[in-house]
Amino acid sequence: MIDELPPLRDVIAAHGLGANKSFGQHFLLDLNLTRKIASLAGDISQQSAIEIGPGPGGLTRGILAHGTGSLLVVEKDSRFLGALGEIGDAYPGKLEIVEADALKVDEPDVLPEGPCTILSNLPYNVGTLLLIKWLEASPIWWRRAVLMFQREVADRVVAQPGSKAYGRLAILSQSVCETRLALKIPARAFTPPPKVESAVVVLDPLPEDQRFDDLKALGEVTASAFGQRRKTLRRSLAAAAGKTRASAEELLQTADIDPGLRAETIDIAGFQRLARAWRAATAP
Ligand code: SAM
Repeated sequence: MIDELPPLRDVIAAHGLGANKSFGQHFLLDLNLTRKIASLAGDISQQSAIEIGPGPGGLTRGILAHGTGSLLVVEKDSRFLGALGEIGDAYPGKLEIVEADALKVDEPDVLPEGPCTILSNLPYNVGTLLLIKWLEASPIWWRRAVLMFQREVADRVVAQPGSKAYGRLAILSQSVCETRLALKIPARAFTPPPKVESAVVVLDPLPEDQRFDDLKALGEVTASAFGQRRKTLRRSLAAAAGKTRASAEELLQTADIDPGLRAETIDIAGFQRLARAWRAATAP
C-alpha cells in the first residue's frame, strides 16, 4: 500500500467505473508501478504538477505518494470526479480537479506560477495532439513531461535519423526537447489490456537558445517530406513548396540538401534549415 485509500479495484467497483473505449481508457491499477512512473518526474516536492486523464486515479495516487507541491488533474469524463475527490480528501490541500477537455485547456491560466511537470497516461487518440500542443507552447511553461504512449508512438518520439520510426514526431520533439524512452510497460499492466505495449517517454525542454522556434514551418516541411517517405525529397516536398513562391528544388538548395535523398536520411538540423527556407519563401 502506498496510501490509506482503498484498492483501486474496489474504487472502480464502488463507483461503477467500467472503462469506456471511446475515451481511450485503459487503467493502471498497480500502485507500485504508478509510483515508479511518477518518480521519473524527479524531486517535485516544492513544485507543481499537472496530470492529464487521471481516470480512477492510479497515476494520481502514484504522483501524490511520490510527493509534489501541488497537483492539478484534468479529466473529461465526469464519471471519475467522485473517485478523484476521495483522493483529494486523503491529501488535503494538494489536489485540484478540473473537468475539461485537455486539448482546450490553457494550462498557464489554471496552474500556479513556477516550474511544472506534466505527467500522463495519455489517451491514445489525443496523445500526439497534446504533445504537439505542449511542444508549441510559447513560452514553454513546463520543465519536464513524463508521458505514457503506446510503444510505437514512444519510438517515434525518440527515433534517430535513418530508422523506420524517424519522422515528423521525432523532429518536432527533438527540436525542442531532449527525449528518452524511460520505461517499457507490458499490455498486461493495464485493465483492460490494450492490444499493444506501452512505454514512458521523458521530455526535457532544451535551454531556450537551443530550441527551434518555428515549429509551424517545421511541421509543414516534415508533414510533406514524410507524407511520401519512399519518394525523393525533390518530389515529396512538392506539397510544402506549393504553399510558397519557391519550388521544392529551390527550397532544398537553400537548405543545402541533396534533392535526390529521401526524408529519413536527413538529420534534424537539415530539416530545421529546410523550415527556415520554407518560411523565407512564404514571406510577403
Ligand atoms: N491515468 C489513468 C490510468 O493510468 O489508469 C487513466 C488512463 S486512460 C488511458 C486515459 C484517460 O484520459 C481516461 O480517464 C479518459 O477519460 C481521459 N481522457 C481522454 N481524452 C481526454 C481529454 N481530451 N481531456 C482530458 N482527459 C481525457
